[in-house]
Amino acid sequence: MATKSVQKREADGKCDAPPQKKQFGHWSQGLKSSMDDPELRIDADEKIVIIKDKYPKAKFHFLLLPKISIPNLKSLTKEHVELLQHIEKKGKALAKKSDPNLEFRFGYHAVPSMSLLHMHVISQDFDSPCLKNKKHWNSFTTEYFVDSSDIIKQLQERGRVELDTSRFQEMLKRNLRCHVCKKDLPTIPALKTHIKLHSYSKKS
Ligand code: AMP
Ligand code: ZN
Repeated sequence: MATKSVQKREADGKCDAPPQKKQFGHWSQGLKSSMDDPELRIDADEKIVIIKDKYPKAKFHFLLLPKISIPNLKSLTKEHVELLQHIEKKGKALAKKSDPNLEFRFGYHAVPSMSLLHMHVISQDFDSPCLKNKKHWNSFTTEYFVDSSDIIKQLQERGRVELDTSRFQEMLKRNLRCHVCKKDLPTIPALKTHIKLHSYSKKS
């Protein structure tokens, strides 16, 4: 029987479904199997694999992973600059192809939950049933989300990525705030209603 599609899972409200039976190992290793999952894998070249985020937090949400195994941001050196530039370039092309009129960001979670380095490509509508809580919101709209360009700059200048990880847990607990107009909102439903008022089309 065919595996349930991501869209169907969303419609069912099962965004946080436990790992599927076919997935082996700890859940944090899930990206490794998703890289070979035909339902999620959308493209690849000699250096990277592109997959759909299994629990997308916006209309368009992809993950770009190097084929060589890089555990996390701390493992990066100056030698990876070219690879990260390639990932960013591919991410930007994918965003343009997905919806040229939507605003996107390209970056990394400072403290990722999943193993294997992955860059998020995420549209800024945040229109998704999988975006359910403060942690989800703040992980994409505070400095917890580090732009790819900042990571590349750090590598070029210092040869390594230095992030003060003690700051990041507090960020996930911050009050909900609109990423566009900075208005404070009391709840996730209020936030979701509010952000619908914004147009996410690129400024002309
Ligand atoms: P992070 O590690 O915090 O950068 O985020 C990991 C991302 O991977 C989240 O956006 C999840 O929705 C997504 N995710 C979790 N498990 C899987 C999986 N098995 N396959 C694809 N994406 C996943
Ligand atoms: Zn707003």
